[in-house]
Amino acid sequence: MACIEKIYSVSALIGNGSCNANCDFCAGKYLRPEAEENKDHSRSLEAAIKLSARYGGWSLSLTSSGEPTCDPDSLTRALEVYKKCADQGAYFPNVNLFTNGILFADDNFCDEYLDSWRDLGLNNVAISLHGVTEEEQAKAYNLESYPSLEKITGNIRDHGLGVRGTLLLRKGGVDSSKKYQDAIHTLIDKGIDNITSWPVGNPDGSRNEFSPSRLGQLGIKTWLWRNAKKCHGHVWGGGVYDYKGNILRITDYVTKHDPKKDFVRQLVVFQDSTVAYSWIRDGALCMK
Ligand code: SF4
Repeated sequence: MACIEKIYSVSALIGNGSCNANCDFCAGKYLRPEAEENKDHSRSLEAAIKLSARYGGWSLSLTSSGEPTCDPDSLTRALEVYKKCADQGAYFPNVNLFTNGILFADDNFCDEYLDSWRDLGLNNVAISLHGVTEEEQAKAYNLESYPSLEKITGNIRDHGLGVRGTLLLRKGGVDSSKKYQDAIHTLIDKGIDNITSWPVGNPDGSRNEFSPSRLGQLGIKTWLWRNAKKCHGHVWGGGVYDYKGNILRITDYVTKHDPKKDFVRQLVVFQDSTVAYSWIRDGALCMK
């Protein structure tokens, strides 16, 4: 039995579970019943941030069972907890918001929130991308239209925050090396030069009808191996690549906690205030 030596990051679910999109493959839906005000959530988030920082963690990800920007006050509260921790020394170089990006096309929304979120420590906004055109985005999100990606990224940058792309690998979408290469080139042309990818799947890490084929995923990994320079690997699989000066990252959707390993990929702060060693809570409880 190994002792834990490293806790790389914290992922926290925030928000009331509402969403302005309606994806067929939504993995957050099963967690929405828990998405209500919980007085212990802030305490759990603070403890998880401090624990990860003590164990060499460098990244906080804010996400939701819905769309976090649809409940902006909950995001402000989570960032206030982070700011308190950072002021006490539990600082993360990467504080990322994961979003479908829709509300960042709204100038008023950006003016109202982005400066204060940046001042509380947010430094990157990661936009979930199911394709590289607004039409592909609208189709995946089951919307009549999706706003201009250039408008979204421009608004975020105008407020001093970094933009990242989460290019999701999905059957019928980006599911092969050719489509991955084309998508990467288009996104880089649009100014999105830091792109993370993982295959969509079930919350327990298993495959579902929307997961790309194993062959397609292997093709994408091989394309990276042939065309980009590996900067570092992740102990849980995948890694970070330099592709002509752009950052490409490939990883898995979730990593099951293994008590025999001496690392934790991420502490997950659930909305019922449970903190677990992975998205799969069974056998991975850390704090209640
Ligand atoms: S945007 Fe995210 S939370 Fe909303 S329906 Fe799609 S996958 Fe679910």
